[in-house]
Amino acid sequence: MALEKENLKEAVLWEAAEGKKASCKLCAHRCVIAEGKLGKCCVRKNINGVLYSLNYHKVCSANPDPIEKKPLFHFQPGSSSFSIATMGCNFRCDFCQNWQISQAAIEDGRIDGQAISPEQIVAAAVNYGCKSIAYTYTEPTIFMELCNDCGRLAKEKGLTNVFVSNGYQSIEAIDFAKGWLDGINVDLKSFSEDYYNRLCKAHMQPVLDTIKYIAKETNIWLEITTLLVPGENDSEDELKRLAEFIVEQAGADAPWHISRFHPQYKYLDSAATPLKVLERAEQIGKEAGLHYVYLGNVPGSKSESTFCYNCGRLLIERVGYRISANNLANSCCPDCGTKIAGFEL
Ligand code: SF4
Repeated sequence: MALEKENLKEAVLWEAAEGKKASCKLCAHRCVIAEGKLGKCCVRKNINGVLYSLNYHKVCSANPDPIEKKPLFHFQPGSSSFSIATMGCNFRCDFCQNWQISQAAIEDGRIDGQAISPEQIVAAAVNYGCKSIAYTYTEPTIFMELCNDCGRLAKEKGLTNVFVSNGYQSIEAIDFAKGWLDGINVDLKSFSEDYYNRLCKAHMQPVLDTIKYIAKETNIWLEITTLLVPGENDSEDELKRLAEFIVEQAGADAPWHISRFHPQYKYLDSAATPLKVLERAEQIGKEAGLHYVYLGNVPGSKSESTFCYNCGRLLIERVGYRISANNLANSCCPDCGTKIAGFEL
């Protein structure tokens, strides 16, 4: 046990429950875990009545990325973000693009990675000239202990912190992180409970609650991403309701990234999302009143760039993840003076 515990970190946001159970409050699954058992994410374990994180000392990815890759388009544009992950996830999406690291703990109990301390992670971020640390590739909520330790230290060094998340964290988890978390991209995968049940083994309402809470009750910069899976979440009606939800609950300034699906993992029988479906979704977003709608995984599209929603002026020109021109003047359109929402634009 002593040796095993060297690889463990006591979990945050849990309570002891009757019969040596541990009640985890980190995400909306709210697992009540019997002694010796794992939570649904398979990276939190009840050992002798205490809940531990199994992945704190198991960093499986650590490298600098353009912040645009997250995607975060209105957050320190053109900067690098030191991006880290550990294995595990609280979703089981059939089409996961990072299934090799997100689903291994669930499929065969594998949690690979190496111990990299928060001090080392923050030092690497500084050495690479990054402006932020991104907790990404898998779901950051399920490695919240590491995020918290890195996030606090990063703030002390003048760095920001961002999550790329499925939005399934509890309100308690958002409150826990909001002192150091500066930006987040939340996947709103569809506007259908059936989709969340069938393809992600989760529920939709907690994700809607997260988006509302972040937008209305915190200062965390919010962007939203929807992967359009042909025949699953791309009907006009569903996209209209989804876009209207963003406008009403997150506001017209919340950027919406509509991402092209490519066959992955267990979801191999569908073609990639047709371009005309992506373009129609973009139009629906704009008709709903969103100021910034972007297409992702469509190299060379002009819909990767930011335009002034008032006068149409090209403001930030992107080619893939690279910024080829930034025409903003003090975060405003240089032609009509409209203020463009974002974090350190
Ligand atoms: S993080 Fe979520 S899935 Fe994992 S143990 Fe806690 S409540 Fe369960």
